[in-house]
Amino acid sequence: MEEKKPKYDLFHVDDPYPEKHYILTDEEKKASKFGKLVFPFPQEHNEVVAEGTDEDYVVNPQAYFRGASQIPGAEFNSSYQIFVKPFFLDRVQHRHKKDEFLVFLGANSTNVFDFDAHIEFTLGKGDEAETYIIDKPTIVRIPAGVYHCPLNFKEINKPVMFMASLMQPMFGGIYDLPDGTTMEMYYNGPRQCKYNEEKKCDACGKCLQEKWDE
Ligand SMILES: [Zn+2]
Repeated sequence: MEEKKPKYDLFHVDDPYPEKHYILTDEEKKASKFGKLVFPFPQEHNEVVAEGTDEDYVVNPQAYFRGASQIPGAEFNSSYQIFVKPFFLDRVQHRHKKDEFLVFLGANSTNVFDFDAHIEFTLGKGDEAETYIIDKPTIVRIPAGVYHCPLNFKEINKPVMFMASLMQPMFGGIYDLPDGTTMEMYYNGPRQCKYNEEKKCDACGKCLQEKWDE
């Protein structure tokens, strides 16, 4: 039988642009077209831990993608954390304007299905609330507007890789207050303002208006 030869060998293409390799210094970013789309993760450490709680429930430093303040135009932000001890991550029910996805995987780098933990997560509010036990690698979709939490990492026998991804330019949620009103809150991590190094980011949202191609 005649051997079929593909017209193009897409798997063995040489580097087509050897002159255009960028190292991401600020100057090179400015000189490039796509440099704003490539963002090295900063190292993050917890800013707030409840009193009496040890910080060693999670591997530090942690990686977060904070959304459009880091890559202009991104309608997505995500955490990349490894939990090593039980921790009650989120006690307060809330909802978001966009979908959120929660990923729970084993943190064993040679087998993400190596999972031994007991995590409890509630979807819905009041009569329709349902609490799910996560004891195997799982992804949860939380549709826009659906109440969720508490989220409790109750038992961690093997490290868990946790990714919470919200399809919004910045992390934030809508909370019901006891007086019947609602409060929208945003949080952009323990960082300084993009325009004023003296100031801590207060999630004002100004940098969310930036465009990647300007
Ligand atoms: Zn949420």
